[in-house]
This record gives sequence, C-alpha cells and structure tokens, in this order.
Amino acid sequence: MFRLISLFLVVVGLLIINTVEGEEPEKRVNEIHNKALTVDTHCDTPMLLLRENFDIGKRNAPPQNRVDFPGMKEGGLDAIFFAAFTSQRERTPENTEAAYQTANKMIDATFDACKKYSEMAEVATTSEDATRIEAAGKRAIYIGMENGFPLGSDIKRVTEFYNRGVRYITLCHSSNNDICDSSTDRVGQEHNGLSRFGKKVVREMNKLGMIIDVSHISDKSFFDVIKYSKAPIIASHSSVRSIAHHNRNMNDEMIKALAKNKGVIQICLLDVYIKDPDTTTVRYQKEKELREIFNTTFNSMNDDGKNKVRSRWREIREKYPRELPTVADYVDHIDYVKNLVGIDYVGIGSDFDGGGGLADCADVSHFPNITMEMLKRDYTEEEILKVWGGNFFRVFRENESLAKIN
Ligand SMILES: [Zn+2]
Repeated sequence: MFRLISLFLVVVGLLIINTVEGEEPEKRVNEIHNKALTVDTHCDTPMLLLRENFDIGKRNAPPQNRVDFPGMKEGGLDAIFFAAFTSQRERTPENTEAAYQTANKMIDATFDACKKYSEMAEVATTSEDATRIEAAGKRAIYIGMENGFPLGSDIKRVTEFYNRGVRYITLCHSSNNDICDSSTDRVGQEHNGLSRFGKKVVREMNKLGMIIDVSHISDKSFFDVIKYSKAPIIASHSSVRSIAHHNRNMNDEMIKALAKNKGVIQICLLDVYIKDPDTTTVRYQKEKELREIFNTTFNSMNDDGKNKVRSRWREIREKYPRELPTVADYVDHIDYVKNLVGIDYVGIGSDFDGGGGLADCADVSHFPNITMEMLKRDYTEEEILKVWGGNFFRVFRENESLAKIN
C-alpha cells in the first residue's frame, strides 16, 4: 500500500511539474502578445473576399483560408496589411484597366468586411490607428497594394490610391511593369532597375508618406529605390537569400543597405523562401516538368488543355504532399538578420492566402509559435516586441513625418 501511495505521489508530482513547465512559457507568450502591437505586413486575403462563399467573420481553416478576424484574435495579432493584389499581365490599356478595377474591388471588399464586422475590425490608415483600434479590442486592417500594375503609367493614381487608404505599394510582382524590373521575370531586365516613371512613383510616394515595398523587385531596382527614396522602405514579405537561395529573397548586401536606410525586412512564411526545396523528391521532379509547360506552351493552349495541366498540378500536390519548413527554420532567418545588422531591421510578413504557411504555423492563430521559438532562443522581450511590430511602425511613422515636411 505504501508503495502504491508513493507511486501515486510521484505521478501527481510529475503531473504538477509538467503542467507548470507546460503553462509557464505559454503564459509568457500571451503576456508578450498582450503587450506588443503586433503586425503582419502582408496577406492576400482580399482575393478571397471577392468570393461569395468566404466569410471573414468566422473561423476558417487552412489551406483554403489562413486569415480571418477571429483567428487574428486567437493568435494575438493586432494589425495586418491586406494586399490589393493584381497579377502582372501584358501591359495593354485593357489589362491595365482590368487591374485597376480589380484593385479597387479588393479595397471596396476590405472596407465592406470591416463594416460588416465592425465589432471585430476596422480599416486603419495611420500608424496611430493601430494603437487606438487595438485598445478598443479590435483588429486594425491596413491596405497595401501588391504590384503597381493598376497605376499603369498614370502618376495621379498614386494619390488616388493613397486617398482610398493604400499605405504601401509593392512596386511590381513576378514580372516587370512600367515602374521597375522584377526579380523573377523570365525575360530579365527591361529598365535596368527603376524606370523613369518608377522614379516619379518613388518621389510621389515619399511626398504622400506612402511606404515603398521592395518585395518582388529586382536587385538593381532595389538599389535604385535605396538611392532615390528619402524615406525608409520595407520588404513586406521577403526572406534571407543566404539561407534560401531564391531570387525573391534579399542577399546580405541588400539587407545591409536596407538597415542603413533604416528600413525593415519582414520575413515571409512561404516554403521556398524559407528553405531550399529538396530536389530529390518525386514531387519536385514532377512539378519541374509541369513548370516547364507553364513556361513554354501553356499560354497557347485552349481552355481544355489548360484545365488538364491545372488538374495534373493538383493531383501531384495531393499525391506527393510536401514537407513544409517549420517555425524553427523560419526563426533562423530572423536570427540571421539580427546577427548581420541588428534586431531593429527585421519583422514578420506572412504572405498567408498568397502561398505562405509553415508546418507549425499554418494560419494567423498559430503566430504565438513564432514568439515561443524566439523565447526559446533567449530573445529579450524588447527584441520580440521590435520584431512583432516595433520596427515596422517606426518605419511607418518616419514615412508619415517626412511627408509632413515635404
Ligand atoms: Zn507576393
């Protein structure tokens, strides 16, 4: 009997120790999220807002959706940038007009969603707004524009979109546009960096206090922006090229220049920007074959042919699921920037609903896992607060005050 009792006590003791050990770090994470003004500077959720069956006021599930208002609350996320995204098409007047319409629809949809769920979220336009909205227990929704394609070559549209609430513009997307060269255009350079119009756009954005976003743009475009921008800039969703060797990521020289500019790189959660893909897998090989089709004959196919390629793509993804990088792999990028230039120049930009998502951070509600990992690596509270928003809001405020001087 005595032995039984002692065994019982040992088990209870172990349970208590485990509970305390299990709860403590989580409590700490919660405390930090309550204290911080947390921001994710990039998601593509407005694309989903245009779909009828999507309800942002309800808890949704990945992979179909990774950002919704209740999920933001659950994940201790105070603010987010919704990107009005348009993909780059051939730069005809018709396509430019269509992109302009789409961007406007996404902005309208963002305002509508916040109006519909006004007890949960509000559209924010100034750096101060996030603090006020957070204090009211709501989520601050900022608007960014991913790809300057909707501007066409009309400089007046910069002010027009600013007046609609847009607070950053990602100058281009996967292909070159009238503003600058992209890091991933198959044809290569067209303007050798920023075009003449692109320089005007930079000047205009500085004047208005609109933040310039260098994610997606070519290295030469980046250095041109550094040269011409009077205000600090951001990479709203980019990672470290020395770790994941993708052109979309930033090399050390760029990160150093960004820090000198007092800007910030917001590390992206997209798999190939976090870890180089394993090229030995069947999935990789099959996808490579399909990518070749996309790059060559796809555009000249009829609808039937295109649909066959698309469903083949889906089949491969289902049959050979990929192993996603983890939060630990992700925080390696934060570490890298911290070691290279210091903690003041790094933040978080998920790219959720645009390709972002890790094995243990699949949607906004999982963001505390990133905080937990930083704690494990002995980041101080001050450092974590900087990563989660302090750095970004410093850049935002600087853009606003420079605009007032201009
Ligand atoms: Zn993007």
